[in-house]
Amino acid sequence: MPSTEGPVHVIGGGLAGSEAAWQLGSRGIEVVLHEMRPVRTTPAHETDRLAELVCSNTLGNRLPHTAPGIFKQELQALSSLIVASGHAAYVPAGGALAVDRDQFAAAVSTALEELPTVQIRREEVTELPPGRVIVATGPLTSPALSEAIAGLTGGDDLYFYDAIAPIVNVESVDETVSFWANRYEGDDGDGDYLNLPMNKEEYEAFLDALIAGECTPSKDFEKEIFFGGCQPVEAIAATGRESLRFGPMKPVGLFDPRTRRRPWAVVQLRRETRTGAAMNMVGFQTKLKYGEQTRIFRMIPGLQEAEFLRLGSVHRNTFLNAPAILDRALRVKADPRISFAGQIVGCEGYTESSAMGLWAALNIVAERQSRELAPPPTDTMFGALLDYLATSTAKKFQPMNVNFGLLPPDSMRVKKKQKKERRIERGKACVASFEAWASASGMASEALSVTA
Ligand SMILES: Cc1cc2nc3c(=O)[nH]c(=O)nc-3n(C[C@H](O)[C@H](O)[C@H](O)COP(=O)(O)OP(=O)(O)OC[C@H]3O[C@@H](n4cnc5c(N)ncnc54)[C@H](O)[C@@H]3O)c2cc1C
Repeated sequence: MPSTEGPVHVIGGGLAGSEAAWQLGSRGIEVVLHEMRPVRTTPAHETDRLAELVCSNTLGNRLPHTAPGIFKQELQALSSLIVASGHAAYVPAGGALAVDRDQFAAAVSTALEELPTVQIRREEVTELPPGRVIVATGPLTSPALSEAIAGLTGGDDLYFYDAIAPIVNVESVDETVSFWANRYEGDDGDGDYLNLPMNKEEYEAFLDALIAGECTPSKDFEKEIFFGGCQPVEAIAATGRESLRFGPMKPVGLFDPRTRRRPWAVVQLRRETRTGAAMNMVGFQTKLKYGEQTRIFRMIPGLQEAEFLRLGSVHRNTFLNAPAILDRALRVKADPRISFAGQIVGCEGYTESSAMGLWAALNIVAERQSRELAPPPTDTMFGALLDYLATSTAKKFQPMNVNFGLLPPDSMRVKKKQKKERRIERGKACVASFEAWASASGMASEALSVTA
């Protein structure tokens, strides 16, 4: 059991670090929050405020039939400072919880500055301090601390870029077009891969669209990582009209049961979660803009109606191989006095990052009460994301956001028209399950209201 005395050192006053400091401080635990800005900054931050949003000004969807909307309701049951500040700084933006970024960061900063248990130190941390520590330094962790983290976790389990392929809801794939099979293992419909075959015309049309697709510009500080297995699919396509057919779309060893022939090209989907509800497009990491991804990837036979649970990206990101390195409380297995939180544990997004700060903090609260905290159940968005971090295949681990594919499969099949209603029902069930867990674990707290 890690030390139960002295202040907790939270390194990084971003979304996760601020949430962690709030949860600890408001529950009576002394915190030293180390934030390096403005003494030293990152290539993306522009102010010295805590919880600065580095890019978009939205905390994601807030509607009750969406995964981020349900997730935020769960977080409210634990008095999340980030979600409460988001509501306080809300600006109208359709279904999104968009915020005035200055008001949002000011609300978080003020709440922490006014908390007597939290001491804020403006300094870069280059070595892991003694005592109980939460590292929440984010995707742009300073180089010196990254080195110290690599020393702690083993260099092979700390990554500096992610290369994310889209994830599709398996229920939205047209099963009359796709077939299950492993390469070279026949077509008895029993394989692990869901294959989407293309004929020559379909391949050529798809290739043209892919090559012409609009990509996200690279930030100045992002080196392109066009090498080896991390090359974006559109970059491979641009190297020659046959490149994809000899790369991620190779058809060798596969036979389409409908035509009894080898397809011209194949897109393969592989289970992303244990249940197989979420399927990863193998080798389709991409820098295409989000709108372009949905437009172009829906040209793939079988994906015309695809629901993308997560879209692809390739960008700079410091993150750990969480399933290999961390326990379920986000503590380093080999040195449990150190916890990690935020995007660095392998989640994606502002709200997910904050939630990981919240979770690391609650586990320290439990430690101080000499008890272990059971994670939220996997039928909640929060519990499902934590389960993904703990149980993913370590070799292929890539960051994840909350989505319906992480939940256990829905026992009820509904028509497309009833899907929204069904998701609202599932959302209510998630929140009820979460609130029951929060109450039973002794961590439930009053809904928080802050002023922006
Ligand atoms: C360029 C970029 C754009 C992104 N855009 C979005 C987006 O639009 N929407 C979205 O949902 N997600 C986005 N993300 C992903 C992610 O949600 C955010 O990065 C989010 O801020 C992560 O939260 P965090 O708390 O883990 O890290 P951060 O919010 O980055 O907080 C980390 C903090 O640690 C500090 N720090 C770093 N090193 C040290 C050190 N050695 N000592 C002391 N302090 C240190 C930093 O100054 C920073 O304040 C983006 C990521 C990047 C890199």
